[in-house]
Amino acid sequence: MVVQQLFCQPCQRFLSDRFVEGTCPSCGYEDARGDQCDKCGRLTNSIELKNPRCKVCASLDVITKNSDQVRINVVIYFFKLIKVEGLFALLSGFCGSTQAREK
Ligand SMILES: [Zn+2]
Ligand SMILES: [Zn+2]
Repeated sequence: MVVQQLFCQPCQRFLSDRFVEGTCPSCGYEDARGDQCDKCGRLTNSIELKNPRCKVCASLDVITKNSDQVRINVVIYFFKLIKVEGLFALLSGFCGSTQAREK
């Protein structure tokens, strides 16, 4: 599944709904939140907002990006870590800490 999410370029991070403000697509209220418009009460999706801006750095340099690929990369990275280093570190770390405790 491809998930569209807002990505803040200056922050270099995906923005969850509560870190986004923008113009409500329904009533045009300019300070609508990423999850709901305070003026008309409409539940919004942050990617539906017009002129979305980052609440963290107040930048308008916010783009819509597929977060799917990022998640896959993280999962692959995680598996690699567990398989190679994780397992190794777990074993040696276990032996190492046992020795350290004995000293
Ligand atoms: Zn509204
Ligand atoms: Zn930002």
